[in-house]
Amino acid sequence: MTPTKPAYDRILLKLSGESLLGRKAYGIDFRTTQFLAHEIREVQNLGVQVAVMIGGGNIFRGLKGSEAGMDRASADHMGLLATVINGIALQDALEKAGCVTHHASALEIRAVAEPFIRRKAVSNLEKGRVVLFTAGLGSPYFTTDTAGALRALEVRARVILKATKVDGVYTADPMLVPTARKFKTIRFTEFLKRGLKVMDATAVSLCRDNNLPIIIFSLKKGHIKKAVLGEPIGTRVY
Ligand code: UDP
Repeated sequence: MTPTKPAYDRILLKLSGESLLGRKAYGIDFRTTQFLAHEIREVQNLGVQVAVMIGGGNIFRGLKGSEAGMDRASADHMGLLATVINGIALQDALEKAGCVTHHASALEIRAVAEPFIRRKAVSNLEKGRVVLFTAGLGSPYFTTDTAGALRALEVRARVILKATKVDGVYTADPMLVPTARKFKTIRFTEFLKRGLKVMDATAVSLCRDNNLPIIIFSLKKGHIKKAVLGEPIGTRVY
């Protein structure tokens, strides 16, 4: 029987920048932001408190800039600003879908987003607002996976839902290795030992040290809701 009660009362949803691409190679597809907003709204309708950490890879990644000769910290600041652009787009779509939102940026950019204040974020979650975290941790050399793990712990989310391109954790990259096998569940330590790349190792070790489970799954219609309802989907890292 399909469960109807959510398995978690507060979640942190990690969306990569790529999840905003739709069929595009670069930037933001606005039909996709609308789709995401409706998926989030559906989960909120179950009474779940939703925080979102959004990436920036659809616009810019610091590593690309540094490979091209840029100073890594400057390039990462560009990546951080890319996440804020995505945050503005998602916030707009969420509000059009009827959600009340709180956009908290780790870089001060006050005309656009509020500065991140942990207690404010928690209070907004308690009020039923979708809390959007952007600008990662505000510091270079990190990723939004790690920032998502930290924010999830800070606001005491019960789980991280990492919606991505692949439908779980595989023994190897399934795009490159067709014989790769999918894990239903995997322990944090095993994930780290295998050097799996689907989620940043710093994020995974932070979750391991603090006992915060992660569910990694593909971002298709109804999948976020399934994960929230505790239905088997993707891979559970625990
Ligand atoms: N970034 C950073 N510090 C952070 C989070 C992100 O410097 O705490 C920068 C980094 O350049 C990264 C970019 O922001 O490449 C976009 O984030 P990420 O690559 O995690 O986005 P995603 O892969 O989720 O789209």
